[in-house]
Amino acid sequence: MNQSLDQEIKYLKGVGPKRAEMLGNELKIYLFRDLLYFFPYKYIDRSRIYCIKDIDTTQTYIQLKGKITHFRIEGQRNRQRLIAIFTDGTGTIELVWFQGLQWIARNFQPGVEYIAFGRPGLYNRNLSIAHPELELAGKQEAELTSSFQPQYSITEKLRNSFITSKTIHRYVGQVLSQVSRIDDTMPEYLVKQLKLMSLKDALRNIHYPENNEKLRKATYRLKFEELFYIQLNILGQKKKIQSDIKGFAFLKVGDHLNHFYKHNLGFTLTEAQKRVIREIRRDMGSGKQMNRLLQGDVGSGKTLVALMSMLIALDNGYQACLMAPTEILAKQHFNTIRQLLSGMDISVLLLTGSTKKSEREQLHELLQSGELHILIGTHALLEDPVRFHRLGLVIIDEQHRFGVAQRARLWKKSQSPPHVLVMTATPIPRTLAMTLYGDLDVSVINELPPGRKPIKTIHYYESKRLVLFGFIRKQIEQGRQIYIVYPLIRESEKMDYLALEEGYEAITRAFPPPGYHVICVHGQMNAADREVAMHHFVQGRAHIMVATTVIEVGVDIPNAAVMVIESAERFGLSQLHQLRGRVGRGADQSYCFLMSSYKLSSEAKKRLETMVQTNDGFEIAETDLKLRGPGDIEGTQQSGMPFDLKISSLATDGQILQYARDVSNDVLEDDPRLTKPENSILKQQLSRLMKSRIDWSVIS
Ligand code: ADP
Ligand code: MG
Repeated sequence: MNQSLDQEIKYLKGVGPKRAEMLGNELKIYLFRDLLYFFPYKYIDRSRIYCIKDIDTTQTYIQLKGKITHFRIEGQRNRQRLIAIFTDGTGTIELVWFQGLQWIARNFQPGVEYIAFGRPGLYNRNLSIAHPELELAGKQEAELTSSFQPQYSITEKLRNSFITSKTIHRYVGQVLSQVSRIDDTMPEYLVKQLKLMSLKDALRNIHYPENNEKLRKATYRLKFEELFYIQLNILGQKKKIQSDIKGFAFLKVGDHLNHFYKHNLGFTLTEAQKRVIREIRRDMGSGKQMNRLLQGDVGSGKTLVALMSMLIALDNGYQACLMAPTEILAKQHFNTIRQLLSGMDISVLLLTGSTKKSEREQLHELLQSGELHILIGTHALLEDPVRFHRLGLVIIDEQHRFGVAQRARLWKKSQSPPHVLVMTATPIPRTLAMTLYGDLDVSVINELPPGRKPIKTIHYYESKRLVLFGFIRKQIEQGRQIYIVYPLIRESEKMDYLALEEGYEAITRAFPPPGYHVICVHGQMNAADREVAMHHFVQGRAHIMVATTVIEVGVDIPNAAVMVIESAERFGLSQLHQLRGRVGRGADQSYCFLMSSYKLSSEAKKRLETMVQTNDGFEIAETDLKLRGPGDIEGTQQSGMPFDLKISSLATDGQILQYARDVSNDVLEDDPRLTKPENSILKQQLSRLMKSRIDWSVIS
C-alpha cells in the first residue's frame, strides 16, 4: 500500500525475478515508474460485441461472444496448430494457436461461453483469428470498468510467455493501487495556469480511463509534458549559447554586396530569397552568433543566398567559407560562385582532398594573411593547418552529412565563433525541425525561381519499359540527357550491384554505341574513374548516366531532363524527392519515371502516389513523417533521434508542440537558468530526463 515509484518491478505481485527480467529486456520496464510510463498505443471499444455473420476482414480488433464447439489439431509435429471452432449462433470462425497449444486445450472447454478478442482474417477462405484473447464471458463483463480497453504493444517473446497486453494492464492497476503518492512533475503554477490534469490523474486515466473526456485530458497532459521538456532543454541551451557567446555584429552593407546586386545578379530575387536574406542580415547584425538553418527545396536558389551572406561578411572585413559534403559539390559551388563574382575583386579558392600540396601551402598562407576572402571546400577545410585570418561566416551545405563535432571544429578556426548558416535541401517538417534543430533558427525558401516548369512524374510498371525506352530515345534526339538510378541498400549490397550491372548492360543493349554513350557511376568505383565518368556527363558527352544514389545530392546539370528511378518502391519518399530534384533545372520540361514491380505494399503505393501528385518538398516530408514516423526520416538516421517519444507524435501533435515551445520560451524569458524556487521541479526533472535518455551533445 505504500510503495514508491522507484520500487523494482520484481516486487510487484505476480511478477517475480523471471518475469521482471523479461519485462526489462523486452520493454525496458525495470521500476514501477517505468510501468506507469509504458502507455497504451491504442484503445479499443470493448463495449460492442460483434456477430460473426457481420465480420468483414477489414475490421481491426473485435470481440465476439460464443462457444467453442470442438478443438482440432493440424500440421506436422513441430509446426502444429490448435484450432477451436467458435460459434455465436450467427456463424462460425476458427480460433487458431501456434504456440502454447497444451495450455489452451487444458484451460478452455467446449460448451462454455467465452468472449474472444482479436483481429479477424481470412485463411484458406475460412474466417479466423490467430492467437485471440479468450476469457469467460461473465468474468469479463464484471471486470469492465470502462469501455476503453487499452492495448499495449507486447513483443512476441512476452506473448509466448503469456504476458499479454492484458497482463500489463493488470500490473499497471496493481501499481496504481499500491503506490502511495505520485508527485507532480510540472510546477504547480503551470498546472494551474495551463489547466493541465494532475500527473496522478493523468497516469490513472491513461491506463484506466474513466470516460472519453478524461482520457483526452490525460493524453493531452502527458503529451504536453513530454514535448515541453524537450523544448525547455533545447531552448535553454540556445539561450545559454546566446548569452555566453558574443557574435560579430556585421552592420555594414558595403561595396561588395551593392556591386553584386547592381551588376552581377542576372535576375531578380524571389520574394522568399529576399525575406531569407533579410533574416540572415538581421542575425549577423545583432551582435549575437547566428545559428540558422536554411531550408529550401532543390533549385530554390540557396546558393545565391549563401553567396550574398558571404558578401555581407566580406563587407565587414571578414572572411567566409563554404563547406560541401563531396568533392563534386564543392567544385560545383566553387565554379558557380566564381562565375557569379566575375569582375569583382574578390578572391575565392577551392580546397579539397585532391588539392596539390604546393597549392595547399600557398592557400594556407593567403588564408592566414587575409588575402583570401572566400574558401570553398570539403572536409579538407577541417584539417589543422587551415587557419583563417578573420573568419566571420561558415556555411555548411547539406549538413546531414556532416557530424556535429565537425561543425564545432570549424568554429575553432578563428578567435571568436563565426556566424553559422546550415543549408539543407531536405525539407524537414516543421515539428521535426523544432525538435531536432530546435537550437537553430529556421529560414525557409518556399518558392522556386520563376519560369520553372514543374517536373512531370509518371509511375510505370515493368510492362511499360519499351514505351519508356522509346521516350528516352526521343529525348536524346532533342539533346536531353538522362539519369537512370538503381537502389543501393546496404543489406543487399551484392544483389544491388548485380541489378545495377544487369541494368547497365540492358541499357547499353538498348542504347548501343556509337550512337549512344552510356556511363555507369557507383560508390564502389575509385574516385578518379568516377570523376572521369561524371565529367563526361557534365560536359554533355554522355547521353545516359546509370548510377546508384551517388548523384543524390546537389549535382546540377540543367540539360538533364529525365530521371528514371528503377525499383522506385524501394526508395524512401525523401530520397525519391531528392533524386527527382536532379532534373527540372533547365528551361525544358522535365520528367521523372518511377519504375516499379507490380507487387507493392500499401505504403510503397502511397509513396509513389504522393510523388506523382506533388512536387512540394514540404508536403512530401509531411507525408513521409506520417508514413514512417520521425525516427526514419532521412537525415535523422545518421544523427539519430536523440530522444524517444513515448506518447506524442511529431506527425500529429504539431499544435501541442508549438504551444509547448511557446510556454518553455516564456518560462525561460522569465527565469533563464531556472533558479527561481517555483521552477525547481523543472530543473530537477530536466536533469533526470536528460540523464536517462538523451545525449544532447549530439545535437548542437
Ligand atoms: P539550390 O542550391 O537551392 O538547389 P541553386 O542555388 O543551385 O539552388 O539555384 C538553382 C538555379 O536557379 C541556379 O541555376 C540559379 O542560378 C538559379 N536561380 C537562383 N535564384 C534565382 C532567381 N531568383 N531567379 C532566377 N533564377 C535563379
Ligand atoms: Mg545547392
